[in-house]
Amino acid sequence: MNYSEVASAYEAMENTTSRLELIRILSDLVRETPKDIIDKVVYLTQGKLYPDFLGIEIGVADKLAMRAITATSGRSLKEVEQTYHRLGDIGSAGEDLLATKGQAILFSEPLTVKRVYNVLDSIAKASGKGSLETRIRLLSSLLNDASKKEIRYILRTATGRLRLGIADYTVLDALAVAYTGDRKNRHILERAYNLSSDLGLVAKTVADKGLEGVERFHITVGRPVRPMLAERLGSASEILEKLGGEGSAEYKLDGERVQVHMGATTHVVLGPDGTELFSRRLERITSHYPDIVELCRTQLRCKECIIEGEIVAINIDTGEYLPFQELMHRRRKYGIKETIEQYPVSISFFDLLYVDGDPLTHKTYVERRERLLKLVDENERVKVIPAIVTSNPDEMEAFMDKAISEGCEGLVVKGLKSLYRAGAREFAWIKLKREYKSELSDTLDLVIVGAFYGRGRRSGRYGAFLLAAYDKGKDVFETTSKIGSGFTDENLDKFVKMLEPLKISHRHPRVVSKTSADVWFTPQIVIEVIASEITLSPIYTLSLGSVRKGSGLALRFPKFTGRIRDDKSPSDSTTAKEILEIYRSQLKKISG
Ligand code: ATP
Repeated sequence: MNYSEVASAYEAMENTTSRLELIRILSDLVRETPKDIIDKVVYLTQGKLYPDFLGIEIGVADKLAMRAITATSGRSLKEVEQTYHRLGDIGSAGEDLLATKGQAILFSEPLTVKRVYNVLDSIAKASGKGSLETRIRLLSSLLNDASKKEIRYILRTATGRLRLGIADYTVLDALAVAYTGDRKNRHILERAYNLSSDLGLVAKTVADKGLEGVERFHITVGRPVRPMLAERLGSASEILEKLGGEGSAEYKLDGERVQVHMGATTHVVLGPDGTELFSRRLERITSHYPDIVELCRTQLRCKECIIEGEIVAINIDTGEYLPFQELMHRRRKYGIKETIEQYPVSISFFDLLYVDGDPLTHKTYVERRERLLKLVDENERVKVIPAIVTSNPDEMEAFMDKAISEGCEGLVVKGLKSLYRAGAREFAWIKLKREYKSELSDTLDLVIVGAFYGRGRRSGRYGAFLLAAYDKGKDVFETTSKIGSGFTDENLDKFVKMLEPLKISHRHPRVVSKTSADVWFTPQIVIEVIASEITLSPIYTLSLGSVRKGSGLALRFPKFTGRIRDDKSPSDSTTAKEILEIYRSQLKKISG
């Protein structure tokens, strides 16, 4: 397959504002792709070469890309830099500067997808002495044989700026349409994706083995499972009612969620010692916590397992939990040894997904917890999370007070018969947190989809942002608020920089909005906000029409908390469904 087919599809995707059209273009591309490279095309379309959890980036810096353009075009580096600054996009700069070689390439071999992928892969893996020159040479070899359009997309992909905004769910939709002829089959593919976090592998499986192959898909040590998430409710009695009268209330520790994969070294990604730690976003964080790796090896009574827990900083003398910020000292590349002693951590396990040949995701909470208790040999730094099974709201509230007094955020209450639903946020797990007086009881994580230019003191920066929440069913972002407060000048400067590469000339096809914005962005940046309440509004599209015809849900007095949730991807943001639930529980509070 020639890369020009892929590049033309990218161009069409960039030009559409319709999500249906986006799926159509993508499914056509998938259909035309030979089976043996379908995984590669899927990764490339999302601007990568491998699933995220492997952490392999192509990583071409602007400087290097400019030097490759220089080497190919024979222009001076200065001229290349000037063009780049004038056009603001490395892809367009390359296209502009290499335009004159248009005729020459008519006579060269067409670029295949395989070649583009393999060369980008070699660039990603080149390391050590002389690797800079090697990478320039490799990139330049591609540019030399590429057409204008191909140049644009090769350069954007190499520098990590492809950003077509193709979400995982859009790819799953397109795969379902292309291989099964029916978008409704997406949920079967989605299950496999939730168990493997690898879209390329799902694409390859459905291409080679059809839907039956995908249905047989199972959990494997070494491939992170997309985490099960919690819904929220305002009181113990509401939670018990929702769970059918009884639930297991567990401490909600405020640390870092981790999924530990322990096994033989032959598995997909397991490092030399056979243990790998994945973050909530499924990034490998093993190197930050060698002490946790060691504790897992000594305190877990098994050969292989997939187990989840929360890492929390502790005061080693008293055993007390310390605030989340303490853990951030461990997020560094160098000097880990010293920080291990300075900032000791503990791990409290709360779920077990697999142990020694037994997948447990389809077992009930009670069964999984039983196996968990048997597996973990507790000591002062390794625990199973405290829990009580109760049907009494007062008992639950009292347990909550105890949890908070010990430094927890609150509780996560779990349905006794609930299964481990990878990647799902449902009422099988329900959060209960302490209320912030008159404010909404919790912060919301929303996605920046647009911005408005600032005036007065904020001129030259953005004065406000358009926020949206994710609707998983529809795979779109629905607007819910304009936010201008809570930002410091430094924040605003940072936002200008961070949002620059995400700018697009029109509303993104996955954003549903009635209002317009001065600038639109590809949905990517998630920020934490607080608001006084949720109200109905005719301007915003969140859950449009679910409460009143023509009205969506909006935030009243939204304020930025100062925290950018770079641990969350846009589809992990607070969902439309959750905000609707909050709106409904507010009403209950007022009427109750
Ligand atoms: P938050 O921003 O409140 O941490 P979140 O979106 O990251 O929420 P949720 O699924 O809403 O994730 O809340 C569950 C989170 O709470 C988990 O991701 C985990 O990090 C943490 N946690 C702490 N204790 C528990 C527990 N006992 N069971 C499950 N999750 C727990």
